[in-house]
Amino acid sequence: MRLTCKEATALISQALDRQLSRWERLLLRLHLLICDACSQFAKQSAFIRRAMRRLAGDDDAPGR
Ligand SMILES: [Zn+2]
Repeated sequence: MRLTCKEATALISQALDRQLSRWERLLLRLHLLICDACSQFAKQSAFIRRAMRRLAGDDDAPGR
């Protein structure tokens, strides 16, 4: 079974809101191995999530 890019990006977005199942993570990882576009998307999503966490002050902010 393989994910389409649409399914993969949907999972990437969902991963920001909820914990993906083991199976979903596996499928997603397999897809990211073969798909540059979705890898880029995943990287950007991770970056955005970090940035948002920092904005929310949810971080282990150093120097406080
Ligand atoms: Zn893809």
